[in-house]
Amino acid sequence: MYRTNTCGDLRISDVNKEVTLAGWVQTIRKFGSITFVDLRDRYGITQLLFNEKLTEQLDKNPLGREFVLQVKGTVSERSNKNKNIPTGDIEILVSEFKVLNKSAVPPFTIQDDTDGGDDLRMKYRFLDLRRNTVKKNLELRYAVNRATRNYLHQQGFIDIETPFLIKSTPEGARDFVVPSRMNAGEFYALPQSPQTFKQLLMVSGYDRYYQIVKCFRDEDLRADRQPEFTQIDCEMSFVEQEDILQMFEGLIKYIFKEVKGIGYAEPVARMSWEDAMWNYGNDKPDIRFKMKLANLKVEGKDHFEILNDTDFPVFKNAETVLAISVPGCSDYSRKQTDELTEWVKRPQIGMGGLAFVKVNNDGTLKSSFDKFFTAEQLQSLAHFCNANPGDLILILAGREERTRKAISDLRLYMADKLGFRKANEFKLLWVTDFPLFEYDEEENRWVARHHPFTSPKPEDIEVMINNNPLIENAEKYLEHPYSKIKANAYDMVLNGNEIGGGSIRIFQRDLQEKMFAALGMSKEEAQYKFGFLLGAFEYGAPPHGGLAFGFDRLCAILGGSESIRDFIAFPKNNSGRDVMIDAPATIDQKQLDELQIKLDLE
Ligand code: ASP
Repeated sequence: MYRTNTCGDLRISDVNKEVTLAGWVQTIRKFGSITFVDLRDRYGITQLLFNEKLTEQLDKNPLGREFVLQVKGTVSERSNKNKNIPTGDIEILVSEFKVLNKSAVPPFTIQDDTDGGDDLRMKYRFLDLRRNTVKKNLELRYAVNRATRNYLHQQGFIDIETPFLIKSTPEGARDFVVPSRMNAGEFYALPQSPQTFKQLLMVSGYDRYYQIVKCFRDEDLRADRQPEFTQIDCEMSFVEQEDILQMFEGLIKYIFKEVKGIGYAEPVARMSWEDAMWNYGNDKPDIRFKMKLANLKVEGKDHFEILNDTDFPVFKNAETVLAISVPGCSDYSRKQTDELTEWVKRPQIGMGGLAFVKVNNDGTLKSSFDKFFTAEQLQSLAHFCNANPGDLILILAGREERTRKAISDLRLYMADKLGFRKANEFKLLWVTDFPLFEYDEEENRWVARHHPFTSPKPEDIEVMINNNPLIENAEKYLEHPYSKIKANAYDMVLNGNEIGGGSIRIFQRDLQEKMFAALGMSKEEAQYKFGFLLGAFEYGAPPHGGLAFGFDRLCAILGGSESIRDFIAFPKNNSGRDVMIDAPATIDQKQLDELQIKLDLE
């Protein structure tokens, strides 16, 4: 038997027991003629005491960090107790020991506060995974996984696996492709999600399906994206949007309870996409704090009439003018407002400048554009922005989309500064009524905002069918009726992160064909790419809908971390590389020959 107990097991009640432990050497401390060793495994750390005789043996054959060690000995009460660890009251008086394996000197310390940088830790991820902090993350991930399965099982869902080698069925991102040796010249694609398969399962009658499943998307990796990631993927038949929202609100609340011990009692807040954009400039607003936008001017309509009477060119000439009132910052110094101006001018934000109004505690106002506004006009602006004494009103002006994005980034930036985004506060939100289409400037056509299987709102179906999707004047795409069509689509947002999203699907062949046509797909192309789905819809497809949660992200937020990588055992870096196994890599000429692939690299 390698061990009778783990390194996390033993307590004061075990004193005098004869035990055998096995684990890794965390630290070695020699005190005169005796030696203390901390032995570590997945379950904890136990202190070992090597007597004089054994220490002499150690002197001849020294132990090193991360050696794999087996010891026999007696549990004994420690004189110098360590209150920080559960085994801190005892130690093992070692009678025999055996080095099961040596270890090279690890490239970084295997401790919570390691001295290893990111790259080094990724290269030696198998060592990084020995660290307590990383282990805790994986344990949390497993807890979320278990809770998910429990809840969905209780609700009658069944876990059905779907294939990874499939046909390229674009869902918005680029596919990873896999050449087929047996069908030279043909390729599989890895699924961006099991979308079409889960819909086929609905046609097959499995009315509550789920899977915790890998998805693959060959996208340029923005910070904290992974080319392969995990979804909690779900689909239901004979449901309306409301049924889905209720069911999965239940899932997330269950996870909160099981994993964090948080009873999330109140119903999840709901907000339409339009309200989210209007009030927060963003379709995944963080509602832990207010700081809503004041829309001073929006294309086509002035919301704050005074802008018409003033001559501040920056506001006058802008398509959009948006403001937020930041509490408690009216005493910002010149240096501080300059710093904010620099911040909005950074290329990532891309604004030309920042205007501000200080709403002083004595009621007076001071702005960065005083000479263009009368005192009354400033007062009325502050009133329009719902500003309170002590607020600093920050104003951005420019092109609609960029300004909206910038003010929403600024809102989060200020909230971070002011400590409004507390890691242990969780605010859920459903965002609903998304637009069905998005206009793709490069291709001058409509693309599905969610994916092409999402159904339009029933009242918008006619608009979709009866209007030609062609856009004659690209600049005026907003005037095209398609820009107003709403989808039966919803996202779940947690603390400003989209953690899940889905839709009620199209389930009739003819409507699905019209959808493909609206997206600029010819009949032939639709048949080639999605013939299997269109065909299946002819055999009694039930009404259905579903959603998928980003499992890695959900775990990261529950674990209070910004990075999903911390919650994935073997993640890829920002260039999509696994630096530990060094993938992707070239393959042998023989493999290429078998695939009949000739490389033509620049
Ligand atoms: N398959 C979708 C996605 O991955 C989610 C869904 O609509 O169920 O985004």
